[in-house]
Amino acid sequence: MSPYRYRCGRCRASSPPATTRAEAEAHRDYHRATVHGGLVPDGESIEPVRGEAARDPNARYVSGRAVLFGLGLLAAASVISRILGR
Ligand SMILES: [Zn+2]
Repeated sequence: MSPYRYRCGRCRASSPPATTRAEAEAHRDYHRATVHGGLVPDGESIEPVRGEAARDPNARYVSGRAVLFGLGLLAAASVISRILGR
């Protein structure tokens, strides 16, 4: 199975390679939420990674799992602030 990465044509930026398509989609969701305020940017894609970048996906970047964990923390924080703000 080859790794995937999310690419945003609008920012001309790529996510770190993710082991699975689901992890690449987590990068996509995170990028949409943080950079584009939840909107879907033009020219985005999820593409298989080949060659050098595919060799060690987690060596230079935060792993997809860490991103998922971060998203979970964000969700928890927003729930907590909603409860406290009542
Ligand atoms: Zn973007």
